[in-house]
Amino acid sequence: MLDLTSETPKPKVIAGAKHDWELVIGMEVHAQVTSKAKLFSGASTKFGAEPNSNVAFVDAAMPGMLPVINKFCVEQAVRTGLGLKAEINLESAFDRKNYFYPDLPQGYQISQLYHPIVGEGEVLVEMGDGTARLVRIERIHLEQDAGKSIHDMDPNMSFVDLNRTGVALMEIVSRPDIRGPEEAAAYVVKLRQILRYLGTCDGNMQNGNLRADVNVSICRPGDYEKYQASQDFSHLGTRCEIKNMNSMRFIQAAIEVEARRQIAIVEAGGTVNQETRLYDPDKNETRSMRSKEEAHDYRYFPDPDLLPLVIEQAWVDQISADLPELPDAKKSRFINDFGLADYDASVLTADLDSAGYFEAVAQGRDGKMAANWVINELFGRLKKDDKDIADSPVTPGQLGGIVDLIASDAISGKIAKDVFEICYTTGRDPVEIVNTEGMKQVTDTGAIEAAVDEIIAANPDQVAKARENPKLSGWFVGQVMKATGGKANPKVVNQLVAQKLSG
Ligand code: ADP
Ligand code: MG
Repeated sequence: MLDLTSETPKPKVIAGAKHDWELVIGMEVHAQVTSKAKLFSGASTKFGAEPNSNVAFVDAAMPGMLPVINKFCVEQAVRTGLGLKAEINLESAFDRKNYFYPDLPQGYQISQLYHPIVGEGEVLVEMGDGTARLVRIERIHLEQDAGKSIHDMDPNMSFVDLNRTGVALMEIVSRPDIRGPEEAAAYVVKLRQILRYLGTCDGNMQNGNLRADVNVSICRPGDYEKYQASQDFSHLGTRCEIKNMNSMRFIQAAIEVEARRQIAIVEAGGTVNQETRLYDPDKNETRSMRSKEEAHDYRYFPDPDLLPLVIEQAWVDQISADLPELPDAKKSRFINDFGLADYDASVLTADLDSAGYFEAVAQGRDGKMAANWVINELFGRLKKDDKDIADSPVTPGQLGGIVDLIASDAISGKIAKDVFEICYTTGRDPVEIVNTEGMKQVTDTGAIEAAVDEIIAANPDQVAKARENPKLSGWFVGQVMKATGGKANPKVVNQLVAQKLSG
């Protein structure tokens, strides 16, 4: 299903003062697991609840409380791994990452450093110009989220909200296979699309349910190819990690500005320090947050409160068998079954609501025509109102009805746009609109012929000109359409005008 015949996109090249540079990017995406309860407690994960109302004793680290793994969160991680064509590890384990988190009272985060639940996978990132990059996934591990410290409610005090404390996260780690800012954003878009199809993360970046740490380094042209051949990182520059990016726009801007910062340092004879940085969108710059910490700084050790996580192959197989159709497969099916162009198929499979809507319209109809009406008319109109497809006032049945009216020559494409607008604003049925408003196309040759004759008789000069230059016959077609209120069948009008002018 993967279209590996596509060319890979050209890496981004930035011209420095001395020579050209290329970018190397690897991402660590934190995706909040869609689950009613937290990773190790039964407390609710509902967003926007009263502060500290969704906190179990174990989330608050009360003495003697023990974590209990939530099987559904494990299932979601397995499902995600399968959706990314990844290896599932039947045995994984949880480790403590020791750190002072004011909003995680345990004083450590339960994570999976040594034995993650998901191993190597891949994501095909299409760039919209026919090129595609296969980005390898290194691992996915399950871990707890921290709560929220609130510093802006009081001038003298900080507050803490533990509602998010202990909510399950999947950390999805890519290999450094991404070669430019646009690819990085496209990677996150594709990953989010797959997670949403799978129902394992809602991908809401505004709420922080999907956030990306972006690792950026620079290298000279050719060095990346050496790295690829040997997987030896020494051919690449020292990377910096930009933390917690939560918008596609900022991801791109941050990578660009960070790469330029590194180029300036290296070209001036300096060295890039491996560190964690923050992006400031107001100043469009990255700033050092802390020097790079190593795994041993966190004194990781296996969590003694939790047994190794052992799952059965049969259970994995069952989850695999129940996977929904994923974006790449759906897109290929739309291309093959409905004859759609690559681009249209991408647009229509961008999210499940759009794909479902289109399929309902296209079923038993001309697929290209259905795609055209969904993308150009419906999406265009919804965009004008800043509405989602889920809130479309026109149902798939109604839009299908409009397509049927055109296909059966009952209305012209032009009139169909008027019918669509009435349907959109009033919710009335297209067939009823056409009948009640007298919008039916006139195909009766006699009536059209009379209109053609009348216009020809009234415009002898135009007739003479059109006989010399047949291109001018369009003027007559226009006049007839006008005279019939746009309802004359354009095919018949064209034929009759041509016939009368040549006669
Ligand atoms: P750490 O153990 O320090 O977290 P990892 O090897 O796990 O480092 O890599 C973390 C992230 O950094 C991964 O997403 C990886 O793809 C990325 N990365 C590694 N080397 C580079 C590099 N030279 N340039 C850009 N990103 C890199
Ligand atoms: Mg890491």
